[in-house]
Amino acid sequence: MKHKRIISKKTINEIRSTRCEICGQRTNIEPHHINTRGSGGGDIRENLIQLCTQCHINTHSGQHPTKDDCLNKVAEREGITYDEVYAINRKAMGYEV
Ligand SMILES: [Zn+2]
Ligand SMILES: [Zn+2]
Repeated sequence: MKHKRIISKKTINEIRSTRCEICGQRTNIEPHHINTRGSGGGDIRENLIQLCTQCHINTHSGQHPTKDDCLNKVAEREGITYDEVYAINRKAMGYEV
């Protein structure tokens, strides 16, 4: 399966932020899939977070912010609990939750 790099523009615009959602930096912000597309992660708000280049590199190498840090931030942004974010993502990935 080819990796799809195109992310839903609509979803990106919905979560678009001028700052890194982890450290607050204002430059080089890019969207990150918390559950990678390769692992079935969806283009949904609950799976996307805006990160600066440094936080983005860090999370991909397993350092801070961890996946849990990202999920907690998304929960805060969406006004729902960590468990709800987790469940919504699991469902989007085709699991029974
Ligand atoms: Zn950052
Ligand atoms: Zn990423």
